[in-house]
Amino acid sequence: MIPRLKLAALPTPIEFLPRLGAYLGGLRILIKRDDLTGVAFGGNKTRKLELVLAEAQSVGAHTLITVGAVQSNHCRQVAALAARMGLKCKLVLYGEIPSRASGNLFLDRLFGAEIFWTSKDARNETLNEVFGESWARGERPYLIPLGASNPLGAAAYALAFDEMLQQIQSERVDWIVVASSSGGTQAGLVLGAHRRHFHGRILGISIDEPERELKEVVAFLAREASDRLGKAMTIHPEDVFVNADYLGGGYGVMGEAEREAITLFAQLEGVLLDPVYTGRAAAGLIDLARKGFFHRGETILFWHTGGTPALFADKYQNQLLSE
Ligand SMILES: *Cc1c(COP(=O)(O)O)cnc(C)c1O
Repeated sequence: MIPRLKLAALPTPIEFLPRLGAYLGGLRILIKRDDLTGVAFGGNKTRKLELVLAEAQSVGAHTLITVGAVQSNHCRQVAALAARMGLKCKLVLYGEIPSRASGNLFLDRLFGAEIFWTSKDARNETLNEVFGESWARGERPYLIPLGASNPLGAAAYALAFDEMLQQIQSERVDWIVVASSSGGTQAGLVLGAHRRHFHGRILGISIDEPERELKEVVAFLAREASDRLGKAMTIHPEDVFVNADYLGGGYGVMGEAEREAITLFAQLEGVLLDPVYTGRAAAGLIDLARKGFFHRGETILFWHTGGTPALFADKYQNQLLSE
């Protein structure tokens, strides 16, 4: 068995969204609540970090170092778990430095993480520098890649897939719709589906990558993750479903589509989405439903990947409440 820390509150619930389904013309929509993984507002990174931090612990790390955008949910989860495990945390954040720390950035600070600012283009260079200095000082640093999307992080989502299968039992699920960015989450789900001969399809709504690139990353991570889980499988980019029609104004830019999706989920179901990932993925689901992509009688499971604190970032909150 793959080493795994018990950090998340599992299994996360699966709920039914009848009012949203009726609004979309009679679809059956389920939601897997990975926004409720239980660590500091939760999200998909908790599951990934159960495996990644097991490795960090086994190599005797004293400092966790990772990278993300200003409102990174991944960095917030790493900062919280570092605190919980008594480790130092260094975050390399890129993007415009806000005048006030709100949302995830506020939480990073609250968890006591040390922050290093950089630009998107220089992020890997800065990350290497921060790691090198930490190493030289004897801080026993452990580097977690962007989004914890390495083979271990992806493997965590193959295990999450099994959890979901147990919950739905004999119920038929035709589509799983999930936000996909650094690809680890979708890779794990694709691998999980492959391992269990699932008849439904895993549709990744790309947040910020062209279709072809994302399919390649997902297939690569799925293959590598299968190896970690003890049985290498061949998964090709053509086996991966990605829709990259919803990139909107680019990463982290909340447009009208995201705003509508966030509002619909909130006002029809009392469910909170985030402006960067799940808002965009849900906007894709809604648009595809309106275009008749899903057939009547099909069941769609929206895999909620978290991100709630970003709703409270000044830049998004102001925009959500205007008009
Ligand atoms: C990181 C993140 C994703 C994307 O997951 P990947 O594994 O990087 O594709 C989706 N939703 C939220 C809320 C995230 O924080």
